Amino acid sequence: MSRHKKIKSTAKLLLLCLLILVSSILFLFIAQNEPMIHWVKTFMPSVSSANSQVSQPESLPESATESSLSIEKISKVWEKDSNLVLVNWEYALPEHYEPKLQKAFDMEMDERLVEPYRQMIEAASKEGITFWISSAYRAPELQKELLEREIKENEKKGMSSEEAREKASAAVAKPGHSEHNTGLAIDLNGVRADFEHEKGYAWLQQHAAEYGFILRYPKEEESKTRIMFEPWHYRYVGKENALKMKELGMCLEEYVKYLALKEENN
Ligand SMILES: [Zn+2]
Repeated sequence: MSRHKKIKSTAKLLLLCLLILVSSILFLFIAQNEPMIHWVKTFMPSVSSANSQVSQPESLPESATESSLSIEKISKVWEKDSNLVLVNWEYALPEHYEPKLQKAFDMEMDERLVEPYRQMIEAASKEGITFWISSAYRAPELQKELLEREIKENEKKGMSSEEAREKASAAVAKPGHSEHNTGLAIDLNGVRADFEHEKGYAWLQQHAAEYGFILRYPKEEESKTRIMFEPWHYRYVGKENALKMKELGMCLEEYVKYLALKEENN
């Protein structure tokens, strides 16, 4: 064998060895891949969370996280404590629900809130704050009228009847779905968004719960109540519930569900 040929075959052998080495490394890397992911997950949590987000998103769409409770479960809560009747976009006023109405402050309202309201406005007046009720109980029939009126107004603006109804439903609750139908809700000092900036509003934020009232549609709970922030609308739930809700930071939807689930687990 010539010297030249010898060098050539040695080079071939070396190349073959190199190929085997590279393949082995590749094989080992692939085989190690699983444990490697495990290692990444253990020691690099930021990488692992980015990885797991693909199969397990941290923030589910609202519709998926919001589990509605059956009307039976919701009913159990207010049958136990009638201050907690829940009326909203989802739950209508229960059929056999009859508010015990009383005339007071030039309005009609559930008798339960008359005395607490009187005490509340007396306490506020000592600090120079005046409250007046601009709306209290509304019969479901009146709600129907309000809705029809709103639809007509929208149609006058040139909307199609379908569009007019859709827009009106977003602004005015359907009959039986307004909290004013319960007799337990009051609108204070007119229906004004700027009430939020008045000292009366600040006073209510601090003291309303002591008299059993809650701000029913808070700004930060719009996704749960499905009603835009209403600084003027207060709901009577009783002192104990109001204080508990304040402590837990829950709106009525959350609180009723919380109680229903608590009852279920007992
Ligand atoms: Zn209202």
